[in-house]
Amino acid sequence: MSDFKYKPNELFCENVKVRAIAEAVGTPCYIYSSQSLVSQFLKLKKAFAAINPLICFAMKANDNLAVVKTLVKQGAGCDIVSGGELKKALAVETDPQKIVYASVGKTEKEIEESLNAGILLFNVESLPELEEIERIAVKLGKKAKAALRINPDVKAATHDRITTGTLQKKFGIDLTTAHKILKNKEKYTQVDVVGIHMHIGSQITSKKPFITAIKKVAVFIEELKADGIALEYFDIGGGFGIVYNEEDPFCVQDFADSIIPVLKKTGLKIIMEPGRFICGNAGILVTQALYIKDNGVKKFLIVDSGMNDLVRPSMYDAYHEIIPLRKMSWKKEKMDIVGPICESGDYFAKDRPVYAAVKKGDFLAIMSAGAYGHVMSSNYNSRTRCAEVLVKGNKYYVVRERETYADLVRGQVVPDFIK
Ligand code: PLP
Repeated sequence: MSDFKYKPNELFCENVKVRAIAEAVGTPCYIYSSQSLVSQFLKLKKAFAAINPLICFAMKANDNLAVVKTLVKQGAGCDIVSGGELKKALAVETDPQKIVYASVGKTEKEIEESLNAGILLFNVESLPELEEIERIAVKLGKKAKAALRINPDVKAATHDRITTGTLQKKFGIDLTTAHKILKNKEKYTQVDVVGIHMHIGSQITSKKPFITAIKKVAVFIEELKADGIALEYFDIGGGFGIVYNEEDPFCVQDFADSIIPVLKKTGLKIIMEPGRFICGNAGILVTQALYIKDNGVKKFLIVDSGMNDLVRPSMYDAYHEIIPLRKMSWKKEKMDIVGPICESGDYFAKDRPVYAAVKKGDFLAIMSAGAYGHVMSSNYNSRTRCAEVLVKGNKYYVVRERETYADLVRGQVVPDFIK
């Protein structure tokens, strides 16, 4: 995480002392580096320059407007999965012709909104969905373009809950069904089926599953061509992994070098949908130590952020490095680092060697929290969702305010019969 560094004993994000932000904004808070976001986007763009793909940032990883706008300004499009993400993508002036929309459960309202916005592609996940888009497009008198999301039935070497490209999962359309749909595609008067989409999972650190799946789909595209079915787009999805702990880094240049010849051969315009790769290492969650508790068997470091702020460890057993904002050099001892939520699953680390000198009031950074962090946060235990901060150079900006207690009761009503 090159934009988060000790200089020499204090953690900085770019040129801002992280502790200064924590003291001013309060904790917990997410902090993102603008430079990291841009450099990850450019790394991908450069690696694939030979085919100039449309890079649609997967907003599900981080939908903060300032984060999305940072990438849109660099030329990114958006991969969306809901009407809410569409609204946000448009709010930061994403070119609708750079918006692609995947989701197994698009509603009539969401389809209408996307048709009215004039998005580039619906990544269609089933035959009934395609028919629904056609019906709504006819009703509105709008034309739509669609890509079929293929489920290539390839296992990605990642956590089961973020594997999406096998037939045990709800995503996409199997090859046989896809072929049938494409053979009949002329029957849709308002929807032009012009592409193939795939996304096999997330946090995949080996290029192998991508290569296997892309090659399999490329063969399918050749078969379609042989049947006279012409397409325009091949959207290869996202899923490129990042380093959380000791994983081998995913080398995009190496992946690009291996796959560009296959992609070029399809003759199609390539789209990709990276989320985590762009923003995962560009963000941290800052928290403060509240108590240290020793029950004779275990020690617990209790902090002021919880699974409602960052659910990845509880949900996926995910590893996040945790470091003090002010470097400590004393001996380490093993502790669980836990939040205040009333769930045993509310932890950030188990039996983790922690600086024994850590004490109440110390600030800690939970690293690599820029993707699937704040977006997955909740109000569980009636906790307010935390603030988000964007750093650029030697300045920082609060890009989402911490929620207040008023936000917690907004929209709730106690009916008269109970009063
Ligand atoms: N595209 C689709 C369809 C997805 O479902 C996802 C995430 O699961 C992504 C892109 C982004 O994945 P990642 O953040 O791993 O790049």
